Amino acid sequence: MSQPEKSMSIMVVDDSTMIQKIIKRELEAVGYTVHCFGDGMEAMSALSWMEDPPDLITLDIDMPKMDGFMACEYLRRKEEEGLFADKGRGPIPVLFVSANDTIKNRRRGFSLGSLNFIAKPFGPGDISAAVNDVLRPLGRFDGMNALVVDDSAVVRQMIGRCVNKMGAAYCEAENGKEALQLLNEKLDEIDLLIVDFTMPQMKGDELVRHLRKMEGGARLPALFVSAAGDTHDILNMFRSGATDYLQKPFITEELQARIGVHFEARKYMLELEELNRNLYERAVYDGLTRLHNKRYLLDNLDRSFSLAIRSDEELCCIFFDIDFFKKVNDTCGHQFGDYVLRILGTLVKENIRSGDLAVRYGGEEFVIVMPRTNLSSAAKFGERFRRIVEEYSFEDGTIKRPVTISLGVSSLQEHEATGPASLLEFADQALYRAKEAGRNQLAIYQR
Ligand code: GH3
Ligand code: MG
Ligand code: MG
Repeated sequence: MSQPEKSMSIMVVDDSTMIQKIIKRELEAVGYTVHCFGDGMEAMSALSWMEDPPDLITLDIDMPKMDGFMACEYLRRKEEEGLFADKGRGPIPVLFVSANDTIKNRRRGFSLGSLNFIAKPFGPGDISAAVNDVLRPLGRFDGMNALVVDDSAVVRQMIGRCVNKMGAAYCEAENGKEALQLLNEKLDEIDLLIVDFTMPQMKGDELVRHLRKMEGGARLPALFVSAAGDTHDILNMFRSGATDYLQKPFITEELQARIGVHFEARKYMLELEELNRNLYERAVYDGLTRLHNKRYLLDNLDRSFSLAIRSDEELCCIFFDIDFFKKVNDTCGHQFGDYVLRILGTLVKENIRSGDLAVRYGGEEFVIVMPRTNLSSAAKFGERFRRIVEEYSFEDGTIKRPVTISLGVSSLQEHEATGPASLLEFADQALYRAKEAGRNQLAIYQR
């Protein structure tokens, strides 16, 4: 990926070198490259030899030789004659910066297409704010990537520059086929597809058709930039799944504006997805132990139960509960109690098999669901786990004390559970018996 181009260039035209210096310092501080000129004549003749036109010009009005209005008129005339037309640029944005702040001057400035009028003396930050208003601050789309697909290297570069100017990066492909390969490799890293219509090997609409069928490919915005302009072609683009269409030749300001709209929407979508993921996490996980919670268990147990019935497989359930946990809290403090719960979460995670599900069911109650496990294996596991807890050294800084658990086990087939609720209920009843029988032990459900 190419790095975003960091700096846009500003032409500052003012006959006071002091004002030049102030504006230059302020704009450079926010990342622009600045070239200063002492009058309109000097500035306008510089435009004819500059390789790249400036992204914006600030113009003083009262200057020797050629004043700001004359310079702006000259610039607009040259632009109409085709100056910089090959760069695909619209008119260069102009801001007037003048002490001569009259309604008449403001009107005249705006009639020449100036975008703002800043009165002298201006305050710190006024100029950079006005420039940022027009050019939009760089880095708005930091970290975003576009894939630019066009058979012309010149067009790819031109579009790429626009992407860079929005603070984003881009990668390139020469045709649909090459692009499809890139998308297959790293769809997740791409935020916008900018694609030509007519290309050798694979056309843009065919590429987008493929893209829309890929997993996650329906959500990538696809902006067609094409000379193909008849209704039939345009409809074809949208039928294939285009998000937007811009006709060539385009002006860069319009392309940038559209890229901005798509990046903005993409950013919003990614934020929503992240938010959704967080909400989901909170909904199905227990924050203290990082085990799944009761809600997740109930959603999941239905499925595990049906699956076991359908494939005539065993399904066992263990319910366990910390012994005298109230006393642990009372004697060692709530914080130590939380620590015990966290450790139990870790121990259970470390010891179950990958197909098993362990959840924190409530305060100090846990459930383990064990698919394709018969009653004797489940009981054996439960007994082993009971010993692991009994032998674990619960030690949180200064406090150290033993902790034990009681467990109840139930089985779908042995106990003829009629549904997930009865499987859970049986395990809970067995747990109750284990408590009754003296705690720190495991009991199997008895009908
Ligand atoms: P038994 O052996 O019969 O299970 O006795 P017990 O004291 O463990 O059972 P009881 O249900 O009377 O008390 C459970 C205690 O668990 C009470 C409650 O304050 C504590 N508890 C529940 N959730 C948490 C928690 O998130 N953190 C801490 N520290 N304690 C909790
Ligand atoms: Mg308890
Ligand atoms: Mg309890």
